[in-house]
Amino acid sequence: MAEVVEEVTDLLQHLIRNACVNDGNVASGHEARSVDTLRAYLDRGGLECDTYEPAPGRASLIARIEGSDPTAPSLLLMGHTDVVPVNADRWRHDPFGGELVDDEVWGRGAVDMLNLTSSMAVAMRALADSGFTPRGTLTYLAVADEEALGTWGAHHLVEHEADAVRADYVITESGGIPIPSADGLKLPIMVGEKGCYWSTITVRGTPGHGSQPWRTDNALVKAAEVVRRISDYAPETDINDIWRRFVAGIELPQEISRGLLSPDTFMGTIEDLPVGIARQFHACTHTTFSPNIVHGGSKINTIPDTVELQIDIRTLPGQTAEDVENQLREALGDLTDDVEFTASAYDAASASPIDTPLWDVLTRASKRFYEDSATVPMLIVGATDARFFRRVGATAYGYGLFSRDLSFEDYSTMFHGDNERVDQESLRLSTELWQAVALDLLG
Ligand SMILES: [Zn+2]
Repeated sequence: MAEVVEEVTDLLQHLIRNACVNDGNVASGHEARSVDTLRAYLDRGGLECDTYEPAPGRASLIARIEGSDPTAPSLLLMGHTDVVPVNADRWRHDPFGGELVDDEVWGRGAVDMLNLTSSMAVAMRALADSGFTPRGTLTYLAVADEEALGTWGAHHLVEHEADAVRADYVITESGGIPIPSADGLKLPIMVGEKGCYWSTITVRGTPGHGSQPWRTDNALVKAAEVVRRISDYAPETDINDIWRRFVAGIELPQEISRGLLSPDTFMGTIEDLPVGIARQFHACTHTTFSPNIVHGGSKINTIPDTVELQIDIRTLPGQTAEDVENQLREALGDLTDDVEFTASAYDAASASPIDTPLWDVLTRASKRFYEDSATVPMLIVGATDARFFRRVGATAYGYGLFSRDLSFEDYSTMFHGDNERVDQESLRLSTELWQAVALDLLG
């Protein structure tokens, strides 16, 4: 047992020190460094690794334990190797030092998601060493470029290397953060994620001299009203199936549960919750609109004729681009015809069914580590690589196991935040979980 903890700690430290920082440029990331680390660890004794490098340095690695029965269900364990940039001044330890301090490994990626990427690799190694001969194939994928749309990672592999990454079931980040309740731990399985629609709204006016503004057609003044309307817009509350099952599962006081399950009382109910949780709950049940960028005006004495706004819109499973455009029209009202809007990016939301063999296996396996636990479905409000696999028909969930010491609040502040770290107990739990899941599901 101690050996597993040592191995997963060591591997995680190496991945952190590789500093595969992805800033969105193709020349960043350098995930080939972590592919080398993982290959050195995995590529021996019954495991063979393949690597894919669609752009220099942007490498991903696959290791596979072939199943004996091609008709049996297959499982893909997927972790990304890239991380987001840091603001090192605000860290208490070197963000790329991978230091072990009081049983915690510090560094960028410790919870997003090099912890899982390492624990999945150690589980693969342990299964191969034990002579595991599954009926269904088990694949490990350490993937590049998750933090910037997956262009050089999951998106590329699903499109161009479909045979290499095909699986019935996929597990990746991010779930399993323990939510304590009166009758035990609730462990969220991320069964879906929101989509994004990045809208550019161009507002036009008529240029003129800034010294005579009365009754002019000022694009900036109009844009201010557009922003106000979008910010005030309250789209319908969507009590979807994932939300219903989540609320039923986490066993909140009855009055709050009831309030959260009706579109009429939802907004009133979240008013009384802590704002971090309320914001999350709101995002799980609404299309959200956040006006985040404005460009306009050219000179202090000139009335602007063009202003460009960029709105970050996040969609729910089942919503189309057309639905979003209709909502925008509703929000803008009689200003709709005065503006042009285009989508600079659109990626639909995705969700897997809740009642699946993978759900049952994760629930069962988790109970071995936390006897008092129950799994609940949840929607991720950001994006992960799971979406590419859902689109080609796989059931993909975000999951992991963590020690009871980790709170939902801590986890969310560390995710892309400062002082990211993970305790060794969490690393041990995840490593053992993956083994239990593979044995149960692939048999
Ligand atoms: Zn991540």
